[in-house]
Amino acid sequence: MEIKEINEFLKNNNLPEYRLKQIIKAVYRDGVSCFSEITTIPKELREKMGKEIKILSFKAENVLEASNKKSFKALLKLADGNYIETVLLSPLSDHWSACVSSQAGCSLGCKFCATGNSGFKRNLTNEEITDQILFWKQFIKKNNLAGSFHGIVFMGMGEPFMNYEAVAKSIKSLMDAGLFNFGARHISVSTAGLPEGIKRLAKDFPQVNLAISLATANDEKRSELMPINKAHKLAGIKKALDYYFNRTNRKVFLEYIMLEDVNDKRNDADNLIKFINSNSKPNLLHVNLIRYNAAVSGLKPSKDETVKWFKEYLAKNKISATVRKSLGQEIQAACGQLAGENTKTQKH
Ligand code: SF4
Repeated sequence: MEIKEINEFLKNNNLPEYRLKQIIKAVYRDGVSCFSEITTIPKELREKMGKEIKILSFKAENVLEASNKKSFKALLKLADGNYIETVLLSPLSDHWSACVSSQAGCSLGCKFCATGNSGFKRNLTNEEITDQILFWKQFIKKNNLAGSFHGIVFMGMGEPFMNYEAVAKSIKSLMDAGLFNFGARHISVSTAGLPEGIKRLAKDFPQVNLAISLATANDEKRSELMPINKAHKLAGIKKALDYYFNRTNRKVFLEYIMLEDVNDKRNDADNLIKFINSNSKPNLLHVNLIRYNAAVSGLKPSKDETVKWFKEYLAKNKISATVRKSLGQEIQAACGQLAGENTKTQKH
């Protein structure tokens, strides 16, 4: 929903400004799905708004639910017919986190990613990004899900730094005390490693969390797995990280998707250790080992014992690492599995 649009509507209809506050509270805080639910405004106004304004800029075509009711995935149809997906997860009991998309598709073509394999359609607007949060707020309310909305991760479809302006605007709205009111530390942005974006985030939002999808610390292999590495090599990421640490002194998460016989051998672990220790503040780098969900391509997930060994090997070398719990696998809502339109018939 665009605040600008509501404002114009109120002005055009000679309505007092305090109505805006009532509407904003109902939509952004209380998660109402339609204007008719806003009991603090007159009935005629509710009806008129319902006819002329839409709260969400897309339509939900379907929502899939995991059997443990801890993850949900929605397929959303944008006004121009493009599709995106967005995910709601409960990594901790009573806490909900939304994983939002920043683009319809993605142009970076990472080999392990369903989105990358489905191609790029277009950037999302600020409104289309924040409406994903409104959508989940409404969903939590409608379905009486226990717990509160805790965090937002830009880890859905698309590379957030390829759509920096809209992503930055949406982060501002998310942090706006008069709108969503999320603390900066409850927001995370995940990038394939675009140095310019890392620096801009450090400057504009030093308290927002940063994650870098690394996949491997070997340039040759990385260029194979993540073609963006041909333009932005590990040395460029390292430089951007130096800048980031200087400005923020905050921890950065390195996302390491575990692929059998691709990046899970001892020399891969050694490369990772070397890369981390070559940074100005290695103690601020934390590795998240991610189980691959085999959504696309011939890549296979590393075996459980390999993941365990890898983590222990990193620990022996004083690198902090955790194996990230994979939520949403059953409904193809886990990392690298969001594909939008291409998976529509399969899932929805
Ligand atoms: Fe794009 Fe991220 Fe997928 Fe890479 S992993 S193709 S950057 S969505």
